[in-house]
Amino acid sequence: MNEAALVELITKEVMAQLNSHSLPHTKTLPDSKAQPNLAVGAKIVPVSVSVRHVHLAQPEIDILFGKGHRLHKQKDLYQPGEFAAEEVVTLVGPKLRSLSNVRVLGPVRPHTQIEVSRTDAVTLGLNVPVRPSGLLKGSATITLVGPKGSITLPESCIIANRHIHVPATEAKQWGLQDDQRVMVRVDGDRPALLGDVQIRVSDKFKLMMHIDTDDANAVGLACGGYVEIVDGE
Ligand SMILES: [Zn+2]
Repeated sequence: MNEAALVELITKEVMAQLNSHSLPHTKTLPDSKAQPNLAVGAKIVPVSVSVRHVHLAQPEIDILFGKGHRLHKQKDLYQPGEFAAEEVVTLVGPKLRSLSNVRVLGPVRPHTQIEVSRTDAVTLGLNVPVRPSGLLKGSATITLVGPKGSITLPESCIIANRHIHVPATEAKQWGLQDDQRVMVRVDGDRPALLGDVQIRVSDKFKLMMHIDTDDANAVGLACGGYVEIVDGE
């Protein structure tokens, strides 16, 4: 069997599986022992761990789920307007290794962006750069498979950088600028300093640090944990 036939066979198999059971895969992370440092004036930030996910533009939704398909909201996320959709896709890398049940996050975006961890990238056989959201130039090519079709997208896959969503009021109070890089301290069983954390300021944000599953597992953080901003860089 040639490679094209093999890809087609695998794609069909994945699509059949997506159609037969699309229940979300729930990831359980260990409880964080990290406690907020209550020193006066400490810049304490709650943490949310981002599991691999995709943001889709309408042309890709049309291909993966059918023309004119609208995403179905499963639940609202913490940041206003953001939601987890019922829809999931399968990610396929060049070695034909795949990750299934990857959650689509809404709302629909102008550009499709796939966010994975380094561990996911190794699983898929992809070399994926660490990037701030939206900086897709030179990022990895990946194949998405949905129930109605598949698409291979150049420059679409990143490992999201560590970042903190900061409301404008806190940013002013803490002397933080948009796109500034800071260091944060993690307490608990595996204390650590995490550097090159991007500050993102908006009136629309609620205060929250986003890290991926690799970072979270490495330093023993889970959703509900806290870090402290210790330093500008
Ligand atoms: Zn974020």
